[in-house]
Amino acid sequence: MEETKVTIIGAGIAGIMAARTLLNNGIKDIKIVDKSKSVGGRLATRRLEEGIVDHGAQFFTVRSEQLEKDVEDWLQRGWITHWFGDPYPRYTSVNGMNTLMKQLAEDLPVSLYAKVESIEETTGGFQLETEDGQSWKTGAVLVTAPVPQTRKLLSSKNVSLQEKEVSKLDSISYNAAIVGLYQFNTQTTLPSEGIMDESLPLHVEKIVDHQKKGVSSNPTVSVYMDGEWSNDHFSHTDEHVLSRIEQITERHLPWNKLESSQLKRWRYAEAENVVYEPYLNVHEALPLYVAGEAFLEKNDKSGRTRFESAYLSGIAAGNKIASFF
Ligand SMILES: Cc1cc2nc3c(=O)[nH]c(=O)nc-3n(C[C@H](O)[C@H](O)[C@H](O)COP(=O)(O)OP(=O)(O)OC[C@H]3O[C@@H](n4cnc5c(N)ncnc54)[C@H](O)[C@@H]3O)c2cc1C
Repeated sequence: MEETKVTIIGAGIAGIMAARTLLNNGIKDIKIVDKSKSVGGRLATRRLEEGIVDHGAQFFTVRSEQLEKDVEDWLQRGWITHWFGDPYPRYTSVNGMNTLMKQLAEDLPVSLYAKVESIEETTGGFQLETEDGQSWKTGAVLVTAPVPQTRKLLSSKNVSLQEKEVSKLDSISYNAAIVGLYQFNTQTTLPSEGIMDESLPLHVEKIVDHQKKGVSSNPTVSVYMDGEWSNDHFSHTDEHVLSRIEQITERHLPWNKLESSQLKRWRYAEAENVVYEPYLNVHEALPLYVAGEAFLEKNDKSGRTRFESAYLSGIAAGNKIASFF
């Protein structure tokens, strides 16, 4: 059976940064698995006929020195750009947020379309199995999925979990997010930088025009509905949800010039509450770690889950796992 020193479940920003940290510490025997067709997780971009549209995070902000250093590097490489915001800049990837993730993961050993279904304990480590029957042994595991999905993965009776740590996971709940994605055949009247997040109708969090944002050749738009509305409408039909979003934003977008529309539903978009520890070791004796956007540094002043909290959590967990070997 295949064996690897460290397995990282999830190739979002947390998993990617954990892997990069392990490599920087000289640990090369790693395997990163993600159930999706692309790396990036909630930093997601989609093609809409002629244009592209971000439908997860639109930008990120920087509070930590660590991310500030990487931001300098990514700016120099031409991977990201300062979109708007002063004195707290909002940075965005130049070709859609997912492109930055692909650039960061380029030299990493990522297996896609690999959904881990079980984690079992073996002597001195773990055995993992995917939905399509691949299995391998590993000395350490880092899970970076949204916490409810992580919790499901940790449900095997054959893994000795620390109840105290697991109860921290159980305290984290999530809001859903519904995002309407549209292509119009005319310019929108959104402000010149392409984002509107104030003076919007009830339950609309933000509207983004990606042509004005500078990432799409055509007017593609995402409409973000808030957590309350998204939770309530999560299981309604696409037709109903799209028509409700159109009614609600009637005065803000050129609906008579609509070319095409799609819907994105995030079941676990944003953790409502957080844990002020950058990662947890949930096993009684072995390295079985949990990290991701819901795990904040003790001194995090924003209290919000975001790109930066996932980035820092991944690095902290990577350093901790590296110290084992
Ligand atoms: C709609 C929306 C808008 C947002 N807007 C912003 C914003 O403007 N600014 C900001 O800073 N943040 C924003 N965020 C939050 C930000 O995107 C996230 O905090 C961050 O991307 C989370 O990264 P992560 O690596 O922790 O998790 P994820 O990106 O969710 O990565 C987890 C990965 O694990 C994989 N996975 C899950 N289960 C399994 C399994 N069993 N086997 C294999 N793989 C698995 C998933 O496919 C996924 O790729 C937004 C999020 C959403 C959804």
